[in-house]
Amino acid sequence: MSTISSARVEGIRNQLREKSLGALLLTDLVNIGYVTGFTGSTAYAVITPTEALLITDPRYTLRAREESPSFTLVVAQGSGGYPEALKAVLMERPGIKNLGFEAGNVTVASFERLKKDLPEGLTLTSTEGIVAELRIVKDASEVAVIEAAIAIAQNAIQQVKAGIRPGRTEHEIALDLEFTMRRLGAQRPSFDSIVASGPNGARPHHTPSNRVLQAGDLVTIDWGAEVDGYCSDITRTFAIGTPADISDEQKRIYETVLEAQKLAIAAIAPGKSGKDIDDVAREYIASKGYGEAFSHSLGHSLGRAVHDGQGFSSRSDKFILKPGMVMTVEPGIYIEGIGGVRIEEDVVLTETGCRVLTSLPREMEFLG
Ligand code: ZN
Ligand code: ZN
Repeated sequence: MSTISSARVEGIRNQLREKSLGALLLTDLVNIGYVTGFTGSTAYAVITPTEALLITDPRYTLRAREESPSFTLVVAQGSGGYPEALKAVLMERPGIKNLGFEAGNVTVASFERLKKDLPEGLTLTSTEGIVAELRIVKDASEVAVIEAAIAIAQNAIQQVKAGIRPGRTEHEIALDLEFTMRRLGAQRPSFDSIVASGPNGARPHHTPSNRVLQAGDLVTIDWGAEVDGYCSDITRTFAIGTPADISDEQKRIYETVLEAQKLAIAAIAPGKSGKDIDDVAREYIASKGYGEAFSHSLGHSLGRAVHDGQGFSSRSDKFILKPGMVMTVEPGIYIEGIGGVRIEEDVVLTETGCRVLTSLPREMEFLG
């Protein structure tokens, strides 16, 4: 077993002991990918104190052998055969009396089907966050892949920047960006890119429209690339035109967001809570009179998923920061009728603070 997947399997085994489980059934594909290395679209994994099994179907046998060589491969009869294959695995291992499953990934319907197919006397136990807790702290190889995903996203915006000018639509810019990221080696964008211009910037998660950019707009672009299963997530707000086209209020909003971000990044350190960091940005923005306009949390964990676990938010007082966590820092101000500003960096927690992984300029940039 590769050192990485064996460390992850051991992490799960520690939890089996702690929670008195005979085995853990993984059905969440992102978690399965993390533990086994498998990248196909359907699989189960079963981790016992002594075995690590990957259940997949004939579409993926070759891939599974290649990507997860240390796992015992079980082949289901087609895409509908997983519950039966699991049942066979459990019948052959009567020592497993208590099977944990991932509550967050099982619908009521699939739970009923699972229950029906299990050997008599086996208890199903709902678990939450076993793999998520392992996933949230990244090892050096994961940070390196995230940095590669950041490099592609940053490179892409530099290439499409010339096309961010009056006359172009939000939709065209999003398309340019996504095409360029794929051309540069991304598997896909890590999420649908956001391009929000002028008054549309007041919506933090605006869907790119046919609105035509014009001088005097602030344009918020939030994008990321997925590379080898890991995501980057960056936001920049550009100004269209010259400094004379941008109002004092737009400039004030931008400076407030940027300063809030700098203060938050300087405050990040192991041992603090997610709320501690959110508070720093939120209090600064409120002190400038924009408290109501910062309508989302400060940041989130980043990894195999764009939202890869807990983050910097007013509800995260129990979430304690540790070295190796990769987080976004993305304060924003959104004002109906005027627009919005968001600036987002990706950082990795170190022993004493954090290292900023993103490296695009953060000062207001004028385009067009
Ligand atoms: Zn983002
Ligand atoms: Zn984000």
